[in-house]
Amino acid sequence: MDDYLREIRGKTAHDPYFNNISLGSSKRTIWVPGPVIVGAGPSGLAVAACLKQKGVPSLVLERSNCIASLWQLKTYDRLKLHLPKQFCELPLMGFPQDFPTYPTKQQFIQYLEDYAKRFEICPVFNQTVVGAEYDGNLGFWRVRTAAEVEYVCRWLVVATGENAEEVVPEIEGIGYKNGGVYKGKKVLVVGCGNSGMEVCLDLCNHNATPSLVARNRVHILPREMLGKSTFGLSMWLLKWLPMCVVDRFLLAASQLMLGDTAQFGLDRPQIGPLELKNLTGKTPVLDIGTLDKIKSGDIKVRPGIKRLKHKRVEFVDGRIENFDAIILATGYKSNVPSWLKESEMFSEKDGFPKRPFPSGWKGECGLYAVGFTKRGLLGASMDAKNIADDMESCWKAEAKHLSAITCKSI
Ligand SMILES: Cc1cc2nc3c(=O)[nH]c(=O)nc-3n(C[C@H](O)[C@H](O)[C@H](O)COP(=O)(O)OP(=O)(O)OC[C@H]3O[C@@H](n4cnc5c(N)ncnc54)[C@H](O)[C@@H]3O)c2cc1C
Repeated sequence: MDDYLREIRGKTAHDPYFNNISLGSSKRTIWVPGPVIVGAGPSGLAVAACLKQKGVPSLVLERSNCIASLWQLKTYDRLKLHLPKQFCELPLMGFPQDFPTYPTKQQFIQYLEDYAKRFEICPVFNQTVVGAEYDGNLGFWRVRTAAEVEYVCRWLVVATGENAEEVVPEIEGIGYKNGGVYKGKKVLVVGCGNSGMEVCLDLCNHNATPSLVARNRVHILPREMLGKSTFGLSMWLLKWLPMCVVDRFLLAASQLMLGDTAQFGLDRPQIGPLELKNLTGKTPVLDIGTLDKIKSGDIKVRPGIKRLKHKRVEFVDGRIENFDAIILATGYKSNVPSWLKESEMFSEKDGFPKRPFPSGWKGECGLYAVGFTKRGLLGASMDAKNIADDMESCWKAEAKHLSAITCKSI
């Protein structure tokens, strides 16, 4: 085993980057001297940039054929960042000054493309990671892709996102880009998070007749309060006041500005919006006009679905209605348990780190996680900086070790 290890290390030292080495199996095996980052979304890019700045090379593997695939391939056209841009920028590079407070999806993608270019991050595309396991004998991670390539590395960074796979209930659904094709149609939108609410608004604006399924309780807050973003104001208040007091303020202001949402079938949870976010990760909806459409009756609110047969929907309150289309906005989930063979750091149940924020970014044996904080891009940036700081010293020590081995073997 030692010979094998030396062989890998020796080869690496001659060619400091991604050497193709054959280990005698039919697969292609690639030794990566630096960390392998799985996922080229904002989190993966952020950690690659922070590492680059510290002189640590990394290799990013991405299952799709572009960076930020969630944004480029899966989101609807009218999407803008939900939070003001100052809370969404990645480390080391801000948004362009002329971008609006809430950049559009296209602007955000452009920013990420520029970011990747600036830090010379060139992910390997079409590499779906299907397995990753720590080889205790070798002291390396073995990362396998669907293309039958095995990457061997000392450090593994999981950046596959909280939203890697769609949560699809067992009813037929339709991928949504914009409301144009639904003109004049009766549409049922399942899911009352930020996306479901915004899709309903989009449908109204395209002269469709949407109904919104609100199975669970939900906090709806105005996107702005007192001329400031609700998110920014909350962050500021939290510096001075306990969370329960800030929650009380947010609820009182929302009641004043939006009225009693329960009147329209949108009951609020018992726990305040920030405490709920903190405990469960459930994000409050930041209203951008949907509630007005609900109040005016342009969007109907319906309870959970009991039964679905073709276009006929039976709700739990016994009401039966026909719809021309059903759109699922039922959220996403992590896919980590499907490929990472490890049970210490990540929960097999939900695919999130077991340790709570802000400590979830570091595991054992060179395993890291970025972007699983349930705190959006701000949380991902914090993780990325922590990981780069932590890895810098290991990398330097390892590089010293490698050069010592090379000198010896030469
Ligand atoms: C509609 C929407 C709006 C949002 N708006 C905001 C906002 O305004 N502000 C904010 O802070 N946050 C927002 N978020 C939350 C979060 O910031 C984004 O989801 C962000 O894209 C997370 O980045 P990420 O890199 O962690 O994950 P992702 O963007 O999901 O990137 C993960 C990448 O990993 C790849 N991948 C997954 N599995 C594998 C695999 N097995 N092998 C190889 N590659 C793989 C995926 O293809 C993807 O490219 C929003 C989320 C959504 C869904």
